Order: sequence, then C-alpha cells, then structure tokens
Amino acid sequence: MDYVISPPQQPVVPINGATKAWPVRRIYCVGRNYAAHAREMGRDPDREPPFFFLKPADAIVPNNTPVPYPPRTSNLHHEIELVVAIGRSGRDVSVEDAPGLIFGFAVGNDLTRRDLQLQAREQGRPWDTGKGFDHSAPITAISPIEQTGLIQRGRIWLTVNGEQRQEADIADLIWDVPEVISELSTLFELMPGDLIYTGTPAGVGPVVAGDLIEGGVDGLDTLVTRIG
Ligand code: MN
Repeated sequence: MDYVISPPQQPVVPINGATKAWPVRRIYCVGRNYAAHAREMGRDPDREPPFFFLKPADAIVPNNTPVPYPPRTSNLHHEIELVVAIGRSGRDVSVEDAPGLIFGFAVGNDLTRRDLQLQAREQGRPWDTGKGFDHSAPITAISPIEQTGLIQRGRIWLTVNGEQRQEADIADLIWDVPEVISELSTLFELMPGDLIYTGTPAGVGPVVAGDLIEGGVDGLDTLVTRIG
C-alpha cells in the first residue's frame, strides 16, 4: 500500500528475554482501583466502582528515557501502576478465563496533568487532555507471564529523587488483574497488543523538571524516568 503521507511508526515495547518487540494497539487505563487513592482524590470507593479511560498508543515512552515537561500544566503528577500486556483476543471473558489472555506484565507511570484532569472532572468533560497527552505513558520492558506467573500480590512503589512517594501491595487492587480483564472485555473486544494500566495506589503528587522518578513492582523491571 502506498500512502499519501509517511505512515505513523508502530509504537513498541521491548520484551525481556526476547529480541522481538511488542507492538502496542491500545492503552487502556483503570481509574480509582485502590481505595486509598480514590479517597485521596475525594471519592468514596465503597460507592463508586473503578472505571476505564484510554491513552493513545504513541504516548508510550521507553524505560530510561527522559520525558519533556508537558505544556499547559503546572501540576504534573506521577502514578505508578502494574501494566498487563494482552496476548490473545477475547470478549465477555469470565474471571476464570481472563488469565489465559495475558502475555506478560510491565511497570508503567500514568503521567497526569492533574490541573487539567480535575478541571475536566468538575465540568463533566472528557479526561483526554489531562491523561492522554504526548509522552504520558512511560513503561518498562514486558516480562512474559511464563517468567512472572499471574501477579496477584507484591510491593508496588515509587520514589522521586530517592524519596518514597507511593507504596502499596498489588493485593490492595479493588479489581484484581483477572477482574480488570473480565470487566474491560464486556466493553471492548480485547486484542493482542493491548496494554492495561491497572490503576495507581495512594501517594500521587507533583514532579518538576529535573526530577528523577523510579518505580517498580516486585518481580518486574524498575521504571526510571527523568523529567526534562
Ligand atoms: Mn492512573
């Protein structure tokens, strides 16, 4: 096929222990999937279940790559998250069958222009400008599930310039990984190449140019991001 313009580059994520890369199709994100974070955002997790939003696939930033401080914000926030890579298609998948769709796991940062997100929230507008901006989805290499097993517990943490900001356990997820996949598959047909950022624990906060963000989940790579 000839195109009238150069076709966009396929966003990719490396895979631990493999030379072939992971082509990103969609980036799904879960909002308010840890009770303590829902409360710090002024919401009652007992009354409102988690929900979904998306980022564009080309928002991906590889590990150890600087992120430019984004425009139109003065309140850029970090959100460390466990990321699921979907390797098999499925719709209306049961919780029991959900693990069969998983290719592997990674660590991601759901970078957020908090001022724009909260403004949109108050006005009942979409979250795209707060959440789906350029370079808003740093991610480590993917570790295949054969190496990690199904991740249901383990420490999730984030530091800024070496100082602890976020710390929790994956077991604290309101919807665990199979439940996230099952729920999401009732709304969209999941396809190979999809990534799911599963939500962030409490302790979100601002970063500024020059900050070094490090974060991880037990058993996965450490995500290292400098804000440029
Ligand atoms: Mn998030």
